[in-house]
Amino acid sequence: GLLLLREDFASTSRKTKVSHVFPRHSKSKLPTVVDGQGCCLIDRSGKSYFDGSGGAAVSCLGHGDQEVIAAAKAQLDRIAFAHTSFFTSDPAEQLADRLIDLAPGELDRVYFVSGGSEAMEAALKLARQFFVETGQPQRSRVIARRQSYHGNTLGALAIGGNAWRREPFKPILIDSTHIAPCYEYRGCEDGESSFDYGQRVANELETEILRLGPETVMAFVAEPVVGATMGAVPAVEGYFRRIREICDQYGVLLILDEVMCGMGRTGTLFACEQDGIAPDIMTIAKGLGAGYQPIGAMLCTSAIYDAIASGSGFFQHGHTYIGHATAAAVGNAVLSRLVDDGLVSACAVMGEKLQAALEDRFGQHPHVGDIRGRGLFRGLELVADRETKAPFDPALRLNAKVKAAAFDAGLACYPMGGTIDGVKGDHVLLAPPFIMTDEQVTEVVDKLEIALNKAI
Ligand code: PLP
Repeated sequence: GLLLLREDFASTSRKTKVSHVFPRHSKSKLPTVVDGQGCCLIDRSGKSYFDGSGGAAVSCLGHGDQEVIAAAKAQLDRIAFAHTSFFTSDPAEQLADRLIDLAPGELDRVYFVSGGSEAMEAALKLARQFFVETGQPQRSRVIARRQSYHGNTLGALAIGGNAWRREPFKPILIDSTHIAPCYEYRGCEDGESSFDYGQRVANELETEILRLGPETVMAFVAEPVVGATMGAVPAVEGYFRRIREICDQYGVLLILDEVMCGMGRTGTLFACEQDGIAPDIMTIAKGLGAGYQPIGAMLCTSAIYDAIASGSGFFQHGHTYIGHATAAAVGNAVLSRLVDDGLVSACAVMGEKLQAALEDRFGQHPHVGDIRGRGLFRGLELVADRETKAPFDPALRLNAKVKAAAFDAGLACYPMGGTIDGVKGDHVLLAPPFIMTDEQVTEVVDKLEIALNKAI
């Protein structure tokens, strides 16, 4: 009897099986991914999807990269992990050396973490500790930009520009304010050159620093090319040079968040190279592990590092998995694919082809207002009216419809949108793997066209 009952229980619980994985949304019913090769993801039913946004700009090498897999396996065979309060490791040392060799400006030290939000937390804490230890403890405020995303931990959330994300968690610790993003499509006025526009919005930083009192401001934070919240929006020529000047003039640290746009995504290893500036602190993640391991990093200048090294001597921070040997081994293999095997250059070339194909297909589309981006980081802004740039009513949830229609057509891409912080717009973000071929450029554009026709 007991046996029967157990069997009944087992079979019932199997029949009524629920997923015990905490879902992103309680109503979501997701297919199970079982395989991935190159630019494609395959679910349990055998359906194949083109990985049009690399997750969220993660899978820069696509899936099944044998060199990266071999590097991970070799490291697992030697030593998977040892805690950094006891040991450093060859892969972590090697990856830090390489990143510093390749990084712009005076960046000189690397602090490894497991993802983008952790990298941003480390950046904010490091900036704060720097000022505390250099006799300017009143510098605690952060200025960021509206419609930005810097992560979901409390510190990163505090500075992010989407107020709605912060709202349920208030009061939040860090004192931050926000200026306008550099958003040429909507911000540039009639008759204004894009350079003048860039200078005008960059100067908002100076106004805000003066309003707050320069002696209270610790850092300005920005993504060189804005990803998830705006859909691959680069700044205009001259904007970041003016931002750099203002930060220098007022002793404010410049933190660049390259979590999404870094690691080759824009056609150069770091996006800020194309803006001709270097930050005091830079964060990277996503493409650094390319999805093969969770790894991120915060890079800082020796001026910041040395101040703390000769002050208290230690950065008051740390996580169990910092400097994880297997993650670092993957980072090294990814970097070698990106740089030594020429995949960053491939990204630049394929990015231009993707832009041309998008313009060709959607350049006159009545509901595509703007096609923009750099490298294989491209965005389309969807509008109700091309002439007036009037956005769609957010209640239509157009982004969700486009995402579903694209997924149906076998394209996984990242539409976001609605009215966010007063800046309106639905967009589609494309961030495919750098190994994509010419045929796959056409495939993405074809599938996107099917999705837009169905959703709008
Ligand atoms: N910063 C930017 C620009 C991002 O796009 C993201 C994630 O999308 C983050 C930070 C947070 O990274 P993670 O999700 O790895 O914590």
